[in-house]
Amino acid sequence: MKRILWVVAAASLFIVGMALLVIGSQGRALPTLDPPRSTAGTDVQPDLQTKPSATVPDQGIASPADLPDPEKVPSKSDAAAPQTAPLKPYKGPVEHLFFHPLLAYPERAFDGDGMSQGFDDWFVTVKEFNAILESLYKNDYMLVDIRTVAQEERELQMPEGKKPLILSVDDINYYDYMLGNGTVSKLIVDAKGRIATVSKDRDGTERVGYDNEFVPIIDTFVREHPDFSLNGAKGMLNVTGYEGILGYRTNLLQAEDYEETRSQAIRVAEALKAEGWSFASHGWGHLDARKISLERLIQDTNRWKKEVEPLVGATSVYVFPYGSSVLPGDRKFQALLDAGFHVLCSVGPDPYLRRTPEYMLMDRRHIDGVALRGQAKRLAGLFDAKAVIDPIRPKLP
Ligand SMILES: [Zn+2]
Repeated sequence: MKRILWVVAAASLFIVGMALLVIGSQGRALPTLDPPRSTAGTDVQPDLQTKPSATVPDQGIASPADLPDPEKVPSKSDAAAPQTAPLKPYKGPVEHLFFHPLLAYPERAFDGDGMSQGFDDWFVTVKEFNAILESLYKNDYMLVDIRTVAQEERELQMPEGKKPLILSVDDINYYDYMLGNGTVSKLIVDAKGRIATVSKDRDGTERVGYDNEFVPIIDTFVREHPDFSLNGAKGMLNVTGYEGILGYRTNLLQAEDYEETRSQAIRVAEALKAEGWSFASHGWGHLDARKISLERLIQDTNRWKKEVEPLVGATSVYVFPYGSSVLPGDRKFQALLDAGFHVLCSVGPDPYLRRTPEYMLMDRRHIDGVALRGQAKRLAGLFDAKAVIDPIRPKLP
């Protein structure tokens, strides 16, 4: 378990470290105060061994005041077709898998530059994601909204034979280091209100796509397989704020086109929510909650709420950067509760869920090159990692 956690910490370091490298190499000043500098280059090895035992019984969530806004949970009318199978109480584990933005252009990621190894380790290609999705569907998984899981006062209700699955994407900000290195550049809303991607060809020509990133792929898949989604649920998008969100540099508060950028980002966020997607805070500056001071965590959390929440809407879900969680009883944990975050997600090798009247703790599995190469056995119930792995990945010695 420790190795897996270290791996996730290293992945997160790569995610932020590369962003800083790009910023540094271009000599661009970091925007305003509190840049995520302190996390770069540090040796982060979060130790989650002190996590409370998974055997602590669920107690259900009681106080409506603690719950996510029910209006934000997609209604049945959002689904492509209503579920016909009768719902039954579900008592098994709730899987939560997380990804980073997909490699739409793996040849750009695996081009042998200094970042290739990081992309190989911490990302998956579009081809791999499509295969994973098909397999999850065949294995009777069904997307559920994390807010539905958090809201259930007793147990989750699922159509008979279906298993709940939460999917999330971390750092779907399209940081500078990702651009030109394999991901799309941003998400947009098309004339029909559907979410599409924009990428740039080598010569700078912009290209609109529907089949090369997490969001439009799942939107299409659910449209074609309505029984893959409970009540139209899609996935959770976990965003920081230090380089804007969804490909829009909303962090540049002083930019001349700030208002336009901001309204574009809001338009995309609104369209995403209307399609069944939800948002979570991944911190503003992708800081390590364990390592920073209480004051710094509060400052960073407030900054996310000030700069990002007005774009994506209020959320009660916090996704710890680096999977580096603080635990109940810790003043930092209380600070997150006080800021309105009652669903706290970390990283772990297996499904883990604990609900109390005050909060819900959930672990997520990381799905990336490291997992595909090294965790095939653990992932076997979800998909066959060996069959999924894209031959375009660099050959390992
Ligand atoms: Zn992250």
